[in-house]
Amino acid sequence: MSTTANPLRPELANLPVRMRNLPVDDKGYPVALFDKVDPQCWMLVVENALCRICGERLGLRVVFVLDPASAVGRVTDSIPAHYECANWWACHLAGEGCVALWICRHYAIMHDRERRPYIRLQDLDRVEWYAGGRLATRDEVRRAIESGLFNAREERPEAAKDLNRLVQSLLPAR
Ligand SMILES: [Zn+2]
Repeated sequence: MSTTANPLRPELANLPVRMRNLPVDDKGYPVALFDKVDPQCWMLVVENALCRICGERLGLRVVFVLDPASAVGRVTDSIPAHYECANWWACHLAGEGCVALWICRHYAIMHDRERRPYIRLQDLDRVEWYAGGRLATRDEVRRAIESGLFNAREERPEAAKDLNRLVQSLLPAR
């Protein structure tokens, strides 16, 4: 498991200041403080507005790192982060698939039928999409979202127009 004794990969040396004290795993990657936590810890972290990645207190504006389906559905179980932390994460560790940085101020804590907590996103200041360590193109984002929406369209054709409008509102300009 992780220990601070592991050296960070040299190509990751540009860590945001807030992330410099994070533990480093044996492959040289920083370990987010609250990535895999039980529901009780999840509640404490979210209620106290701590960053999922660095563990420090969040400001008024927070950032959720979302897959396309969560961005469209505005529901997630991921804990919010600082912009610098989330942006670094999306650029270095998110892999090839499209991820959204959902930048917002308001969100509500909900519970599912098994009493597991999750978050309903209530507003959106701005969304940024990343793929393969860089900003994703409009086409990449459209494809990523569409692949997740195909079933929804088949099942509820009457909602397809609303879905199309929603998708348009989330796409980057280029
Ligand atoms: Zn942070």
